[in-house]
Amino acid sequence: MNAREAQTLHVFDTILTLIAKSTSLSQTQQIHSHIIKTGHSNDTHITNKLISLYANSHHYINAESLLNSLPNPNIFSFKSLIHASSKSNLFNYTLVLFSRLVSACILPDVHVLPSAIKACAGLSEWGIGRQVHGYGLTTGLGLDSFVEASLVHMYVKCDRLGCARKVFDKMREPDVVSWSALVGGYAKKGDVGNAIRVFDEGGELGIERNIVSWNGMIAGFNQSGCYLEAVLMFQRMNYEGFRSDGTSISSVLPAISDLEDIKMGVQVHGHVIKMGFECDNCIVSALIDMYGKCRCTLEMSRVFEGAEETDLGGFNALVAGLSRNGLVDEAFKVFKKFKCKVKELNVVSWTSMISSCSQHGKDLEALQIFREMLLARVRPNSITISCLLPACGNIAALVHGKATHCFSLRNCLLDDVFVGSALIDMYANCGKIQVARIIFDRMPVRNLVCWNAMTSGYAMHGKAKEAIEIFDLMQRRGQKPDFISFTSVLSACSQAGLTEQGQQYFDSISRVHGLEARVEHYACMVTLLGRAGKLEEAYNMISTMPIEPDACVWGALLSSCRIHRNMSLGEIAANKLFELEPKNPGNYILLSNIYASNNRWNEVDKVRDMMKHVGLGKNPGCSWIEIKNKVHMLLAGDDLHPQMPQIMEKLRKFSMDMKNSGVSHDTEFVLQDVEEQDKELILCGHSEKLAVVLGILNTNPGTPLRVIKNLRICGDCHVFIKFISSFEGREIYVRDANRYHHFNEGVCSCGDYW
Ligand code: ZN
Ligand code: ZN
Repeated sequence: MNAREAQTLHVFDTILTLIAKSTSLSQTQQIHSHIIKTGHSNDTHITNKLISLYANSHHYINAESLLNSLPNPNIFSFKSLIHASSKSNLFNYTLVLFSRLVSACILPDVHVLPSAIKACAGLSEWGIGRQVHGYGLTTGLGLDSFVEASLVHMYVKCDRLGCARKVFDKMREPDVVSWSALVGGYAKKGDVGNAIRVFDEGGELGIERNIVSWNGMIAGFNQSGCYLEAVLMFQRMNYEGFRSDGTSISSVLPAISDLEDIKMGVQVHGHVIKMGFECDNCIVSALIDMYGKCRCTLEMSRVFEGAEETDLGGFNALVAGLSRNGLVDEAFKVFKKFKCKVKELNVVSWTSMISSCSQHGKDLEALQIFREMLLARVRPNSITISCLLPACGNIAALVHGKATHCFSLRNCLLDDVFVGSALIDMYANCGKIQVARIIFDRMPVRNLVCWNAMTSGYAMHGKAKEAIEIFDLMQRRGQKPDFISFTSVLSACSQAGLTEQGQQYFDSISRVHGLEARVEHYACMVTLLGRAGKLEEAYNMISTMPIEPDACVWGALLSSCRIHRNMSLGEIAANKLFELEPKNPGNYILLSNIYASNNRWNEVDKVRDMMKHVGLGKNPGCSWIEIKNKVHMLLAGDDLHPQMPQIMEKLRKFSMDMKNSGVSHDTEFVLQDVEEQDKELILCGHSEKLAVVLGILNTNPGTPLRVIKNLRICGDCHVFIKFISSFEGREIYVRDANRYHHFNEGVCSCGDYW
């Protein structure tokens, strides 16, 4: 190299150093072309500088082609490219470059190794990380404090806390950042013992805790469900004189919510006000959520209204809080108001409103909100769908349910296990148990919720054999049943009268599965024994139950007593029920039915007087029927429906037809103190009958009808619908609060036992 060339190279070098400070791409390209023109492009030092410039401005293709052009690249040729790619989270690329470097037998330095380790952490590639670690040890670079710190982070990130701990313990200068990562890792894993131990040992190592260490512990414990530890850590932090910041507060509030520790919540709220964090949207949302979970709805609304700017997070927390506390009308009001004020509601807002409606019996509203959501061009996700489907199922809105099914198919949401379970439930609830089974069979993965949905679907349809089959299959596939599984299988046994099998399942709850039988299981057993006429045995079971029997258990005994006309036990059960639910007219009617069937008319009168005395509970009997895409809701004695005159006329006609065919109304189900004619009139008003007649009036002959009733179907409606099914030649499905009734050609699938 002559002096002149050396001088040219020096000039290029100076220019490149200058450009590096301004990082301008066009300048880099200009000087690059100049270097090529003057024939200096094979100088390694100059090329390395160019690679660095391209890498730092993210022009990896240019940088790499320069790297490839070098006959003898050195560590500097790779260094800037590895560093820049790792910084930009191009971790796979970083590792490719690193392996090229190693195979070219170039020794990396203490700056390159941390970039490679960071890439392993970013990809959660623990295996490769360990290899890089081993390489570091053989080359001696692993003893560098930068390298050690990045190894600790990598192992924590890859959830290998034992390895992280080993590296940390060998560090000659343990630093607060690595230490914080390690204790945070233990906390996040829920390893309380190690987290606290290492945290306490920090002082001995000369580590000074900072806000990041405290926040890592609080957030970690909160994430792993160690809520109490999170709150204690927050308290300790303040006690030891560290000022909690916004991150500490928004990490501790969810823990307080889950503990429902309102006292602590109020203290933290005070702290928020004192520190002036009331404008922090994250903290406001967390406060709203906390008050909602602690059931302080007034305080919750106050925080929302007090916030300067109402942001979407706070609004979503408020809607969720209101609906969690059963204030669905309030939630709806807030939702409507906010919808007008802010144009951009997100998928969480819409989903939480849909879920709130479908959980609180506002199924038609849930369907309406879903339509509005689609119109607002907000894309529903799998959670939206699994919240909407129960609303379709509740009111047997099969057309809407199918449309939702198609929507999930088009949007590839069918593989989601919750969407799948919700579809099984929906089809079972809409009377399409075979379709539910097809969905079930096609699921790529199943969890407990799916198995339970299928078992309870079969139970609801009185298909005991199939319910048992699914229940057994579930266990053979290694899925442990929970209390819901047992409730379903026991109710299937009780509906089908499988006394012995039911008893076996009941005994296995504690003996085989180590669970404790719950009150629902006892209610099933009482029904099971009662149906078999073993009333004394049922009563003994109730008397020796380890838990307090509830109204369902006594109700099961009372119903069985009515069927077997047992007065003595019926009286015991009824008296218990009058204490537990004095306003439920059903219990009085059942008891008076028992007396009437034993011709004890004096007692019948007494029950009637009692009923008058306590005042009849409001009994909002309600039915739904879907006709041509529209769901109609009918209330007992309701004349709001526009077709009510036609319905009543048709109903009177059917009553005449029924009489002429020799079938009589079952008037036992009405109070005994009304005239025979009035009784018939009252029975005529039952919502399930109105729904069936509305269906007959508005559909073609032969079309099956699906009706949902919110209470148990009464005996008279059962007689009436059986008659209609043969007289009109229609299949009629009625789902009542208890089970499915499939009426066909004058008989019902329940065998008149429900
Ligand atoms: Zn009825
Ligand atoms: Zn039936």
